[in-house]
Amino acid sequence: MTETGAPPAISEPSREPDAIRPLPPPPALPEEVDGDVMRAAILAKLTYAVGKNPEVASKRDWFLATTLAVRDRIVERWMSSTRKTYESKRKRVYYLSLEFLIGRLLIDALMETGLTEPVREALAGLGVDLDELRKIEPDAALGNGGLGRLAACFMESMATLQVAAHGYGIRYDHGLFRQAIKDGWQREYPENWLTFGNPWEFERPEVDYSVGFGGTVDTIEVSEDETRHVWKPEETVDAIAFDTPVTGWRAAHVNTLRLWSARAPDALRLDAFNQGDHVGALAARVRLEAISKVLYPSDATPAGLELRLRQEYFFVAASLQDIIRRHKQHHGDLRTLPDKVAVQLNDTHPTIAIVEMMRILLDQEEFGWDDAWDITTAVFSYTNHTLLPEALESWPVPLMERLLPRHMQIIYLINALHLELVRSRGEHDGGMLSALSLIDESHGRRVRMGHLAFIGSHKINGVSALHSDLVKRTVFNHLDRFYPDRIVNKTNGITFRRWLFEANPGLTKLLVDCCGAQVMDDPNALARFEHYADDAGVVDRFQTIRRAKKVELAKIIRQRLEVTVSPDAMFDVQIKRIHEYKRQLLNILEIVALYDAIRANPGGNWVPRVKIFAGKAAASYHQAKLIIKLANDVARLVNRDPAVRGLLKVVFLPNYNVSLAEAIIPAADLSEQISTAGMEASGTGNMKLALNGSLTIGTLDGANVEIRDHVGDDNIFIFGLTTDEVDARRRKGIDMADVIAASPMLEEVLDALGSGVFSPGEPGRFGDLVNTLKYHDYFMVAADFDAYYATQRLVDARWHDRAAWWRSAIINTARMGFFSSDRAIAEYATDIWNVPIVAKP
Ligand SMILES: *Cc1c(COP(=O)(O)O)cnc(C)c1O
Repeated sequence: MTETGAPPAISEPSREPDAIRPLPPPPALPEEVDGDVMRAAILAKLTYAVGKNPEVASKRDWFLATTLAVRDRIVERWMSSTRKTYESKRKRVYYLSLEFLIGRLLIDALMETGLTEPVREALAGLGVDLDELRKIEPDAALGNGGLGRLAACFMESMATLQVAAHGYGIRYDHGLFRQAIKDGWQREYPENWLTFGNPWEFERPEVDYSVGFGGTVDTIEVSEDETRHVWKPEETVDAIAFDTPVTGWRAAHVNTLRLWSARAPDALRLDAFNQGDHVGALAARVRLEAISKVLYPSDATPAGLELRLRQEYFFVAASLQDIIRRHKQHHGDLRTLPDKVAVQLNDTHPTIAIVEMMRILLDQEEFGWDDAWDITTAVFSYTNHTLLPEALESWPVPLMERLLPRHMQIIYLINALHLELVRSRGEHDGGMLSALSLIDESHGRRVRMGHLAFIGSHKINGVSALHSDLVKRTVFNHLDRFYPDRIVNKTNGITFRRWLFEANPGLTKLLVDCCGAQVMDDPNALARFEHYADDAGVVDRFQTIRRAKKVELAKIIRQRLEVTVSPDAMFDVQIKRIHEYKRQLLNILEIVALYDAIRANPGGNWVPRVKIFAGKAAASYHQAKLIIKLANDVARLVNRDPAVRGLLKVVFLPNYNVSLAEAIIPAADLSEQISTAGMEASGTGNMKLALNGSLTIGTLDGANVEIRDHVGDDNIFIFGLTTDEVDARRRKGIDMADVIAASPMLEEVLDALGSGVFSPGEPGRFGDLVNTLKYHDYFMVAADFDAYYATQRLVDARWHDRAAWWRSAIINTARMGFFSSDRAIAEYATDIWNVPIVAKP
């Protein structure tokens, strides 16, 4: 990256290692910390904070003591970061997200602070193994998948680049459900990450804002032509802050993740209680506090839940009160808000913030409409994450009117002015005006949150080059005509600290040896690794590192599934939410075809493969849950068939989460990124796997397109219909009789599934799935099958050529620098937030 922090061009990744500038030396830790210092600190925490002595301390006690000792070091940096931001009076970024998929923090914190070795040594001296403690920590899973994980990666990169940032979200008592597999079916169990407390967070009972719902709006005539509105909510709930420090690389800067928890203003209705109505006295409280009880249990499926709207407004209203209080305290006048505050909306979930800001400026701060609107649009920007129609949020007008009456009035006003502008630019077509309106009149009356986010923001971004282009051509095509230059692209990224340094220390060491220590600070230094693509010694080390990770994963597979897999087989992985558009089904069909082909030709030159799946289906998503069952049914038959022993194994690892991802990714040889073209906004799993040297088999979808641009056609396996071809085929019809008739192999696979070969106890189990593929194949599974099967055979051929395989693997790792979330954040900072980057990526 250049001195100005500008990102490299997408089409021409920097591959010239000698152009990499030297970085300043890393900042020193606050004081010299060695094993002895940490040992004393951990023992002190064990005694005085946990209240145990070493003789009786459990692993959890040691985990707590260690975390608290490490946290102290971070808090010192946190305080000084906060002070510096305050003194410099610089602009702050507020990242509003209903999801943060964080994972574990102990190893992360140790690595960021450089304390891993001192702490490992300290614990060893106390007879405790750091790797054992690691497993004690529950994953913080306050998110469903990619969107929430992006928020977590961005928080880390903002701290690393020393952007003064705050994340705002909800402290759910229960995060994403725990998935178990029973008889091949997904079962959901509540997740209890807070059962043993959360040592990373600081409760701030004094940071307590009141959030209203319902009630009425009074209109007061201030003068002849001026009225004021006063919202009188029917009920209120308190938002209590819980802060977690977010440490950047080398702990140079520490930001805050502030999560809100709902509390009833009156803990107990004492009058009712004293009259003997013990349950009734608590009922109101339970209802209000339900707001922060559980993560919205859906992944891009509709569920018109009032509670969800309450969640959205709850965290937005608390966050804006906090932002405005801080601004007034530091800068006084709200007119300077756009100079000091940038608010990023992660998807439409926090969009009501735009209306809440208007309400505050108009009703409380007594701004005129135009000034309020200028301030608001200058402050907000919005990231779009999906084009799926069912995932584009909209709220029924009657619900909005009941829950947020004043906001609904403001939305009508925003809409009136918006449509006036549209008309003034010559648009009078009724159909066009209703397409542009904030109110969707076609499905009952609903508020279109995507439109609202667009109109109230100065920048709207998609998350990969292809997706941003589609945002412009599809969902926001009409709006783009009237508000040109708002849509920009910000291709997603991942933090290399977690997904390389932490997940794969062996590979990290190899990279330091090959690329120099600078690779730890500058993702572009990875490019030097390419010089070693044909170096037998380096290839050998890379293979040894991968094999060790595969042995570890094989052990996890044996322990959890009682299936034995060989670390010498190709580990072919598809790990992500289970969704029809992600097409786990296509992968399973290929397994069935391969299974038949191997049995038909046992002497063939087959590549031994382990097909690894992991991922959760939304609890209400029947089709996705059936796909999980199919994967498990196929696995059961294949894994016990001696005819394919040593050649094919299928495993579905339950309860996919960040920690499981960290175990699977460094062990993966092949990365499955096979979504229907045009449907995956970006993907970040694809980046994590390629960074760790997996080769990708994928469609031209999301960020796969840019991964191909970087690694080159020879080092990735691209197949299938393009976005335009998918569109064309859908227009022609999604009955696939022609495709199936032309593919005897596919026909045979569908017959096997449909006739109950994999479900002998219930032959009709997969009948609907098969019929969908035959007659209503919206996701183009049948249409892409032959191309996918053929491309998998090219993968086989590459695998047989060991030197060629590893050459591609090294090139994949070497060319992933662009996909660092540091690059993404630098782009947001420069192009959207207009904030300086203190540390350059
Ligand atoms: C990265 C990640 C995702 C996103 O994966 P995609 O393949 O991009 O859909 C989802 N869940 C977890 C736990 C992740 O780490």
